[in-house]
Amino acid sequence: MEIQKAEKMFKAGEVIMTQGDEGSCAYFIQEGRVGIVVEKSDGQLLHMGTRGPGSIIGEMAIVDNQPRSATIRSLENCTLLEITKDDFARSVRGANPIVRLIAQVILMRYRDILRRSQTLLSDSPDTPSPEDLEREYAEQINVVEAIKMANEFKVAIASNQLILNYQPIVSMRTGRILGFEALMRWHHPERGLIPPDVFIPMAEDSGLIIEASRWAVRNVCQMLKQLDQSRPDLRDIYVSVNFSATDFDEDSFLTSLYEILAENGTSASRIHIEITERLLLKQPKNVKETLDQCRDRGMGIIIDDFGTGYSSLSYLHQYPIDTLKIDQSFIRKMRHDTMVMGLVKSILSLSENMNIKIIAEGVEDIEEARLLKELNCDMAQGYFFSRPVAEEQLAGLLIERNPQAS
Ligand code: C2E
Ligand code: CA
Ligand code: CA
Repeated sequence: MEIQKAEKMFKAGEVIMTQGDEGSCAYFIQEGRVGIVVEKSDGQLLHMGTRGPGSIIGEMAIVDNQPRSATIRSLENCTLLEITKDDFARSVRGANPIVRLIAQVILMRYRDILRRSQTLLSDSPDTPSPEDLEREYAEQINVVEAIKMANEFKVAIASNQLILNYQPIVSMRTGRILGFEALMRWHHPERGLIPPDVFIPMAEDSGLIIEASRWAVRNVCQMLKQLDQSRPDLRDIYVSVNFSATDFDEDSFLTSLYEILAENGTSASRIHIEITERLLLKQPKNVKETLDQCRDRGMGIIIDDFGTGYSSLSYLHQYPIDTLKIDQSFIRKMRHDTMVMGLVKSILSLSENMNIKIIAEGVEDIEEARLLKELNCDMAQGYFFSRPVAEEQLAGLLIERNPQAS
C-alpha cells in the first residue's frame, strides 16, 4: 500500500474525524497526539485513549464502507499523512482473496465487539476491559489457523498425506465380511496423525472436502480393482464412503462420481454412499434426485449415526435408503439402559417392516455382539470385529473371515 505524501496539519483541539461521518481516508500520525472519543447511544462520551506518532487512525472506514466509529481530535498540533480509500482499495483488489477475506472478517468482528462494548460499557461490573477486548480480538485470529490448515490440507490431498483405513462390516449370521467402511486419515508431516474429527469439519467449511471425497472414491476403486485380482471370489464386497452436505451441493457430484467409477471399471454396486441424518436436514441441492440416481445405478445408500439426528422418520420414505447404521452411543448404552434397549429394538423392528437393513456401529465386546445377534440385527461393525486397518492388512482379514473355498 502506498502512503500518499499528502501531509495534513491539525491545530490542537481541531476535530480530525467525526463519529458517524462517512470516511474516505485513514491517517498515519507523523507528529502530535490525538484523542479518541466514542459517543454512546445515550449520549455518554467514552474516552477510548490517545494515539501518537507511528499510529494509524481511521483505518476501519477504508476497509469497509461503514461510518466512522469514533470522533478523533488533535490534542496538540499534529501532522498526519493521508491514506486514501481509493489507494487502499486498489491494493486490496490485488491482494490474495484470503487476505481480503480475513481483513473483512476481522474488521466485522471488531466492529461487533465495539458495538457490544458500547452498550455493555455502562456501569456493569462485567464491562470488558480494553485488554479483554484485545484478547478476544486475538482469539479471533484463529481464522488464520483455520486457513493455514486448509492450505496444508490442499497440499495433503495432492501429496499422499491422506490415507484410507478400512473397517469391516460383518454379517452377524455368518461372521463373514460383507463390506468395509473407508475412513480417512491425515498424516501431517509435522503434526503427525490428525484425526478426521479435526480436519473433516475444516474440509467441509472450506469446500476442500469435495476434492478429498473424489480422492477417496478413486482410492477405493483402485483398492477394489486389486482385491478383485487377488480374490476374484469376493466380487460382492462393497465399500461404504462417507459424504458430506458440501459434496452434494457440488453440481458435478454425480458426473465426477460416475467418471471415477468408469475410469476404474468399478461397478456402482461396489460403492455405498454413507450420509448422516444431519445432511438430509441441511437439505443440500437436489439431494433426493442425486440419491435416487445413485440408487438406480445400484449403489447402496446408508444413513450413518442413526438416532442421533432429529428423529423425523419421514425421510425413510422420502429417500431411497436401504441401510441404517445404529449409532454407537446406543450400542454402548443398551445393556444398562432399558430405554435405549427399547429404542434399539424399535429401530430393528421398524427396519424389518420397511425392508431396510441395519448395521450396529461401534460394537466393542462379545456381550454387545451376542445381544445384537439375539435381536436379529443383520450386520455389525466395531472394534470387537476389527479396528479400521490399512489397505495392506485387508487381504489378511479377508483370509481369516472369508476363506477361499477350496
Ligand atoms: P463415522 O462415519 O461415524 O465413523 C465411525 C467412527 O467410529 C470411526 O472414527 C471409527 O474408527 C470409529 N469406530 C469404529 N468402531 C468403533 C468401536 O468399536 N468403538 C469406538 N469407540 N469407535 C469405533 P474415525 O475414523 O475417527 O472417524 C470419525 C468421523 O470422521 C467419522 O465418523 C466420519 O464422520 C468422519 N470421516 C471419516 N472419514 C471420512 C471421509 O472419508 N469423509 C467424510 N466426509 N467424513 C469422514
Ligand atoms: Ca460413517
Ligand atoms: Ca457413525
